[in-house]
This record gives sequence, C-alpha cells and structure tokens, in this order.
Amino acid sequence: MHKWHQIFHKNTGLSPYVWVVFYILPFYFIFHASSPYQVASGIAMIIMFFVCYVLAFISKGWQVYFWTSVQIMISIAMTLLFGYVYFSLFLAFFIGNIQNRIGFFTLYTIHLLSTFATINYGFATQNPVFITQLPFVMLSMIGVILLPVNTYNKNKSDKLQGQLEDANKRISELVKLEERQRIARDLHDTLGQKLSLIGLKSDLASKLIHKNPEQAAAEMSDVRQTARHALKEVRELVTQMRGTRLEDEIYRVQQICKAADIDFSLEGSLEKLNISLITENVVSMCLKEAVTNVVKHSGASTCSVVIEPERGELLIRVKDNGIGIGEPESYMKGNGLRGIQERLEFVNGSLEIVSEQGTTLLMKVPAMLKQPLKEADV
Ligand code: ATP
Ligand code: MG
Repeated sequence: MHKWHQIFHKNTGLSPYVWVVFYILPFYFIFHASSPYQVASGIAMIIMFFVCYVLAFISKGWQVYFWTSVQIMISIAMTLLFGYVYFSLFLAFFIGNIQNRIGFFTLYTIHLLSTFATINYGFATQNPVFITQLPFVMLSMIGVILLPVNTYNKNKSDKLQGQLEDANKRISELVKLEERQRIARDLHDTLGQKLSLIGLKSDLASKLIHKNPEQAAAEMSDVRQTARHALKEVRELVTQMRGTRLEDEIYRVQQICKAADIDFSLEGSLEKLNISLITENVVSMCLKEAVTNVVKHSGASTCSVVIEPERGELLIRVKDNGIGIGEPESYMKGNGLRGIQERLEFVNGSLEIVSEQGTTLLMKVPAMLKQPLKEADV
C-alpha cells in the first residue's frame, strides 16, 4: 500500500474498466433520488467516501482504522438512503489489504455484519432498488464475504514467498562465503608457507652460489622438492573443489523435486560416464540450476532427467511439463541459464532450450577419456 495508483485496482483480479463502472455508478443512484437536498447530500457522501479512502490508504497506524470506519458508515448511509451497496466492495478490497491480523479480522467482522444488517434492513423495508437488483446485491454480499479473505491470504502468501526467496539467497551467499573462506585458508596453509620457503631458500642459494656452490646446489634441490610438494598439494585442493559428483547431485535434485511435490524420473545409467572430473562437476552444477528452475518457474508436475551417450558426447536432457519458457530475449537475461551456457561452453559443450509442452533443456558435453593430470616438470 504505497503508490497512489494502486489504490483501486491492484490485486483485485478485476479489470480497471470494472472499477470505473463502480466509480460512476453511485452518481446514477443519486440522480434517481427525488429532492435536490438528497442529491446534494449523496454527492457529498461520495466525495467524502473517496477522500476517506485515499486518507486511509496513505495513513498509518490507528488512522487507517479511523478512516476505514468512516467509510463503513458512509457505505451504510448510502445503502440505506439510495440503495447503493457497492461501496462495500471497495471496502472489502481495502480491508483485505490490511496486513495487521487483528486489525484485519476486526474490520472484516464489522464490515461483514454492518453490510449484512443494512442489506437485511433494505429487504425488510422493501426497498425497491434492492428488489429490482437482487442478484447484484447478493453478489456484493458474496464479494464482501470472500474478497477480503482472498486478498488477505494472497498478500500473505506473496509476503511469505518473498521471505523464502530472500532466505534462499542468503543461504547460498553464506555457502559461497564459507567455501571462499575454506579455499583461502587452504591456500594460505599450503601454498603460502611453501612459497615463502622457496623464496628464502632461493635467496640463500643466490648468496651461496660463489662462496659455496655445493651448498647452493643443495638449497636449490630443496627448492625443487618444495615446489613439487606445493604442486601436489594444489592438485589435491583442486580435486577437492571439484567435489560435486553427478551421482550426489542427482540424489539432491531428487530430494528438491520431492519437497516441491514434483514427480522426478531418471533415465540412463551413471555407471559408465566417460567424462572428466571437471566436466562432471560442470554437468552437476548445470543440472542443479536446471532443476531449481523447474521448481521455481515451471509449475510442472513432472520433471525427467535423461542421461545418454551419443557419438562422442554425453547428452543430459532435463524436461518438465510446466508452463514453458517463452522467448530467448527474456529468459537469457537471468544469470542461471546464461551461467549454464557459459559453463558448458567452457568444457566445449552446448545448451539448447526448447519450449514445447513444458521446457526442455538439452545439455551436451564432450565425452572423453579420464586423463590423470601429468605432473609437470619442475
Ligand atoms: P537465478 O537462476 O539467477 O536465481 P532465474 O531463475 O530467474 O534467477 P534463470 O535461471 O536464468 O534466472 O531463468 C531465466 C528465466 O527463465 C526465469 O526467470 C523464468 O522466467 C524462465 N525459466 C527458466 N526455467 C524455466 C522453466 N523450467 N520453466 C518455465 N520458465 C523457466
Ligand atoms: Mg534460475
């Protein structure tokens, strides 16, 4: 409730044109009234209603309840004097947007009871407007019952959804931070020490080279040894970082789908994957993003992952039966799919996206022999 132009038709599910009818309608009712005095009082009430509506919209705290109560009174008066019940719909919508639980339920109950009582009074006194417009009056009553609850729940679930997304973002930031700190710590503990040792020993060797060439040669041999050791440790570190195995990732995405109530199926075997560790890691990350997107955006009820080898390549197909993905201009703006494409290109792979009865992501990576890293000569 912040921008003035959201006052009348945000979240109502009704087109603005329908609301325009509601703006004009009260005047029609008033001009049906006989005396000029009645017409003048009707116009004054309409103006007051809209002024109170705007005031309630822009105020905070108790003033919201005060202005809403004034509106309820005007609505009652309009119903009794002119048979105009439709202000109650404006109010129903407005009350639904009140986020304070107690405030919402109090105003909802007051509004419901007052509308119910005035409509009943109208029928009891055989108000001709009510009799001729019976279906619309009934519809208004249904609106007064359902609209606030619906709007209130929708706002609440939007808020929860927003909080959930924030929490997920924060968790992934924390995970990244933790991983960065671990890498920095490992690098410091392994490479840092060894490189300072290499520096010291090289200094010593350069000083000894003329005075004591044998000692200098021994120091240089130490330097070589230390460098080899450091290289070995860096490799171990990198191997640990490549961590995510496809098998583990598949288990995780399966869990994610289960939590989101999406049927997950896997075709193809992971036994004889003929891809390097780094490619496997890239595929794992891409798979994770692809399935997260299915959960986040597709609204699908099934998600299937097919892994199949094809002429020197490995094909990974992630398919859902959701709403489809639309045009590349819009979906390539996000980081996720662009990230998948860049990662796959990094290992000479490719990404294809098809939007047909859901979305299909076709990822191809080159299959190759797993090669142990050759130890460079130092
Ligand atoms: P991020 O991944 O950075 O958290 P994101 O998921 O919105 O954000 P992308 O993964 O690049 O970004 O996706 C871009 C857009 O493509 C999404 O906003 C969504 O509209 C659409 N999209 C992606 N995957 C699907 C899918 N399986 N079904 C329907 N729409 C999708
Ligand atoms: Mg994404």
